[in-house]
Amino acid sequence: QAKRHGANQLCFYHNAMDEQYQQIVWIRGELQKALKRQALQVYYQPVYCIASNTIVGAESLVRWQHNGEFISPAVFIPVAEQTGQILQVGDAVCEKVLSDIAQNPALQAISIAINFSPQQFQQQRFLEKLTEQVTRRNIQPAQLTVEVTETVMTERTRIDPILRALIAEGFNVAIDDFGTGYSSLSYLSKQPANIIKIDRAFTLDAEQPGQEQGLLSSVINMCSELDKTIVVEGVETQAMLTYLRRFNNIRVQGYIYAAPMPLAELLVLLRQQAG
Ligand code: C2E
Ligand code: MG
Ligand code: MG
Ligand code: MG
Repeated sequence: QAKRHGANQLCFYHNAMDEQYQQIVWIRGELQKALKRQALQVYYQPVYCIASNTIVGAESLVRWQHNGEFISPAVFIPVAEQTGQILQVGDAVCEKVLSDIAQNPALQAISIAINFSPQQFQQQRFLEKLTEQVTRRNIQPAQLTVEVTETVMTERTRIDPILRALIAEGFNVAIDDFGTGYSSLSYLSKQPANIIKIDRAFTLDAEQPGQEQGLLSSVINMCSELDKTIVVEGVETQAMLTYLRRFNNIRVQGYIYAAPMPLAELLVLLRQQAG
């Protein structure tokens, strides 16, 4: 009986692994077709300054529609990282975002963020290529924010010099999903980044009753002491927004203001804001 149970277990694990593998193979194949057809889209999620209630930036987020259904980047980006397709995905997103900025002066008044995977930094002449792309389109580096997740920071000896060079060139650098990785205060103080995006996990934590919102406020205070621009991610409730108003100069990206949207919708919001 026990033996049979054991055999079933083995079989179960085997199938689960098999299924996962099948999914990776499927995603790799379909993503390759999507890349070839240039079918990936980019959405933008506005970033708001709480004090002025205005849009000060937007994050570009890749979107993949497969037979009318969106496949989440949380699903296909990790696969693309495994298969190496992330370089093609990254290039496609970069091209699209830079051409959107070049064609829409309204976007030049705010800062646009692009997510980068560590592998993109490993590319030959990464910085030269990015600088060349930006210059060719007459875009100022300061209009762009390079987002890199904090977990990547475990490879900081390799990544930090690139981030430092980006800052020297005038780009903004944001540490994404801050709080989910391994950063300490001393570590953060040496981090070549001028923006910290505080992960939604902190926001959720602060929303628990009786939490006193202690952890979130200490992280915010720590970042402002280091003179970093702070973006709080994933704010969904009015209560959280009200809570965040007590801090100076906080920026918010979350459903309470707006979800990621096509460029045309962002342009409408920016137009409303302008007059
Ligand atoms: P991220 O860079 O941290 O992006 C923020 C994610 O949080 C987005 O998910 C956004 O839709 C979601 N979000 C924003 N506000 C709220 C909120 O109030 N509540 C909740 N529950 N979620 C909110 P999305 O677009 O599904 O992207 C997931 C992740 O995939 C991104 O996390 C990023 O790590 C990665 N990703 C997306 N686009 C790209 C890309 O072009 N390149 C690379 N390398 N990674 C990307
Ligand atoms: Mg991001
Ligand atoms: Mg994030
Ligand atoms: Mg995230």
